[in-house]
Amino acid sequence: MIARRTIIKGTPISGGVVLGHARVVLPGDVEFAEIAVPASRVNDEIAALEEAVKLTVAEISDLLESAGKKIGGPVARIFDAQLLIADDEQFLDQVRHAIRSQRRNAGFIYNSLVKETTAPLKSSPDSYMRQMATDIEAVAQRVLSHLSGHDKSDLKFPPNTILVGKMFTPGDVLSYRQRKAVGFLVGEGGANSHMALISRALRLPVVVAKNAYFEIANEANLIIDGTSGEVIVNPSDEDWTEYQKRKKRQGPAAIARVRKLTEIPPVTADGKAVNVGANLTLRGPADEVLSEQRIPVGLYRTEFLYLAHYDFPGEDEQFEYYDQIAEKYANSYVVFRVFDLGYDKLVADADWPHEDNPAMGWRGMRAMLDMNQIFKTQVRAILRASTRKNIKILLPMITDVAELEQARKLISQAKFKLRKQGIAFDDSIQTGIMIEVPSAAMTADTLMKKADFVSIGTNDLTQYTLAADRTNNRVACLYNSFHPSVLGLIKITVDAARKHGKPVAICGELAGDPLALPLLVGLDLDLLSMNPARIFDICRLIRKVDSGMARHLLGSVLASETQPQVIHKLQTFKNELDKMKAIRRRK
Ligand code: PEP
Ligand code: MG
Repeated sequence: MIARRTIIKGTPISGGVVLGHARVVLPGDVEFAEIAVPASRVNDEIAALEEAVKLTVAEISDLLESAGKKIGGPVARIFDAQLLIADDEQFLDQVRHAIRSQRRNAGFIYNSLVKETTAPLKSSPDSYMRQMATDIEAVAQRVLSHLSGHDKSDLKFPPNTILVGKMFTPGDVLSYRQRKAVGFLVGEGGANSHMALISRALRLPVVVAKNAYFEIANEANLIIDGTSGEVIVNPSDEDWTEYQKRKKRQGPAAIARVRKLTEIPPVTADGKAVNVGANLTLRGPADEVLSEQRIPVGLYRTEFLYLAHYDFPGEDEQFEYYDQIAEKYANSYVVFRVFDLGYDKLVADADWPHEDNPAMGWRGMRAMLDMNQIFKTQVRAILRASTRKNIKILLPMITDVAELEQARKLISQAKFKLRKQGIAFDDSIQTGIMIEVPSAAMTADTLMKKADFVSIGTNDLTQYTLAADRTNNRVACLYNSFHPSVLGLIKITVDAARKHGKPVAICGELAGDPLALPLLVGLDLDLLSMNPARIFDICRLIRKVDSGMARHLLGSVLASETQPQVIHKLQTFKNELDKMKAIRRRK
């Protein structure tokens, strides 16, 4: 057991900081001893099994309903799949038959048959199959815990509890959250697992650290940072103070502060309004605050609907989801980015071709144009949800004008068909493109003629400009959006947009970076779209920046030859702003 202050570097899978104490939940894989059952008690074993299944079905139905309310259709469908598994009569018949013929206890037989079923699925190269094995195990855990009488749903714990365990299912996440758990430290799970998707939607920080659950004592003080992946076991008082501050800047508390924007709207010191938007992936608690404050969604990453099932939801299901979002943001607008799959937004999947260099491969718009039926289905669903006229379409990873032309043609065909079918949609819906590869920035002048608006994706633009994989820690020191080459491409894009009178937004992480803010004000962008947790701090900073001074700073930064020079100028500017605040406070 870890007795002293220890830092563990884990993998971040759901952002935000939490401070609390550990509640270690040991692996739920209840090992059932093999017990011979006399013929007279066989029916009792079958009755116990049926009761456990009944309770499991009831629990999952509750989770389905509550997930539907909190997160929405396609993601809640995870529990639909679990319900089908729990209720699978064919499998249950197999269990009943084995209990009778082998005269063994229900738990042992059920557990053995589950293992037999999941073993081949777990070693499948298809992530859909592997996910199915995880879903079967999640259901089995519930059935077995009812059979054993060790029902995890009775687990009680004090406030600020961080659950620590080998693996938690999406259902565990929902039910522990209802009992006010604040975060999870897990031994297994990927960034695109169902557990990660649900945790992100519910804004619960999660870090994966292999075997940590063996080493952490129950009730040990714990800090987990779901953004950096850092875990501190038995933190010092200094850690506690530092992370309290970070917590305020991230996660639910930071989003709740967006409510204060009514009192301090994002206007520069010299009175210029700056438009701020949110980047979202799934429906969740942030929607309430954002819609109330009329904050637009500058980037809706729809590919998470695919990642919830490794399957593309049908047109009606997508329509319902997009329509609910459009309704929620009826007083602002939503930019739906079409499925941006491939590379970092895909776990290894047998249906997806293996590529040696996926970042340079079949991703984003390239894949969508090849799978144009999937693209057209999504576009139809988005169009059908556009009747309030508050939706825009965004195309990711455009590298050449031919891709944009082809996409526009498919969108026109979808519109033509809808018109013919008498289905309403916004005929003047805008189609924009992401500028996230250097070729797009360098030919922005041409692209602007065909795009209604552009949004600069600095996350990918940085990796492609500097040839530094955004997911590779070894080259993390090279990956920096303040490199003069990246800033130069941003400037080319903004100039081209201005020339053609097209709105230009930025939706990469740079939009929420306080150091970059004066530059972005200087560039006079039409929208800064960022992680919702960054909005409040960035708006507060906007109020200190003078737009004339920001333009001056921009000129000076763009004349820099190296990235350290850029950082130095921006840091000096920011220090001046901070000093101004200190003087104002002393007065
Ligand atoms: C980007 O690349 O900057 C972007 C916003 O898209 P994503 O991070 O989803 O690739
Ligand atoms: Mg991108």
